[in-house]
Amino acid sequence: MRAMVLSASATPLQMQERDDPIPGDGEIRVKISACGVCRTDLHVVDSELPGIRYPIIPGHEIVGSIDLMGIGVTGHQIGDRIGIPWLGYTCGVCRYCRLGMENLCDRPLFTGYTRDGGFATHTIADARYAFAIGRTGDDVSVAPLLCAGLIGWRSLVIAGNAERLGIYGFGAAGHIVAQIAAWQGRSVFAFTRTGDVAAQDFARQLGAVWAGASDQRPPAVLDAAIIYAPAGELVPLALRAVRKGGRVVCAGIHMSDIPSFPYSLLWEERQLLSVANLTRQDGIGFFKIVPQAGIHIRTTTFPLDKANDALAMLRAGQLLGAAVLQP
Ligand SMILES: [Zn+2]
Ligand SMILES: [Zn+2]
Repeated sequence: MRAMVLSASATPLQMQERDDPIPGDGEIRVKISACGVCRTDLHVVDSELPGIRYPIIPGHEIVGSIDLMGIGVTGHQIGDRIGIPWLGYTCGVCRYCRLGMENLCDRPLFTGYTRDGGFATHTIADARYAFAIGRTGDDVSVAPLLCAGLIGWRSLVIAGNAERLGIYGFGAAGHIVAQIAAWQGRSVFAFTRTGDVAAQDFARQLGAVWAGASDQRPPAVLDAAIIYAPAGELVPLALRAVRKGGRVVCAGIHMSDIPSFPYSLLWEERQLLSVANLTRQDGIGFFKIVPQAGIHIRTTTFPLDKANDALAMLRAGQLLGAAVLQP
C-alpha cells in the first residue's frame, strides 16, 4: 500500500510504501477510492489535538470497497461499498457507551487520529463502525458525507427545531447542512469570512436566504446557529444573533479561545453547546435522509500524493465545498 504519512508534528505528509495491512479478527481491509479532507485533519497535522502517536495516516472520510476480511466479520461481504467515519471504535462498557452516548466513550479510537486513516490506498477498519453506504452517488461525492455530512447532521439535530438557522463558516460541513436545512423548510443564514464573496454567492446558490460576513447582523433574529469555523470570536457574535431561548452549537473539535463577552449575550436562556464526534445511530439516520434531501456536494479532487496541497488550500480558505483525495 501507499500512504501519506504524518511522521511528526507540523511537518508535511510524506508518501510511504508499506506492506499491505492484514485485517485482524472483526476487521475489514478497504481498498480506498476516495477520502475527504476535513478541517480536523489540519488540527491533527498541526498537533492541536492531544495524544497523537506518530507516525499516523490522517483521513476519516473514507469510501472504498472491502477487499479482505478478518475472522468473525458479520454483515459485510467482500466487494461491498463501504464508508469509514471518524468514530473507529468504542469500548462498549464505559458509562457513556452503556447510556447510548458512544460519541463520548472514555476509550475510543478515531480514524486518522488515533488509528490510521484514509490518506492511503488501503486501510483497516473495525467492521462494526463502518457504514454500508449502498450505491447512491459517486465515491468522490459521498466521501465528505462521512464527517462533514455526518457531524454536520448531528449538529443540525442538536440545534433543534430552529426555523431560522445561522451557519457560521461555509465550508464542507456548512454547504451540506445548508442544503439539508433548506430541504427541511428552514431559512438558512450563511456567515463567511469578511469579503469572501465567492462563499456568500455559493451559499445563496444552495438555498440560503441571506449570506454575509460573520460580524454582520442578519436581517432577522435567528432561532439557532451552528459554528463550523474554528474561530472562538464567532461565539459571542452568534449569541448576539440568536433570539431569547435560542441555541448556539459549536460543531468543531478544536476552536481558538473564546473572547470574554457580556453575560447579557447568554442571558434569557440562550444555550451554548458543543457537538463531539458521532454515534453509529447518527450514521444510520443520516444515510437514510441523504437520498431524499437531494444534496449536491461540491468537491475539488486531488491525487493522493497532493494531500499537502489540499491541506494548504483548506487552511487558506481557497476551496468551495470539500477537498477529496483519490489514490
Ligand atoms: Zn465507551
Ligand atoms: Zn472531520
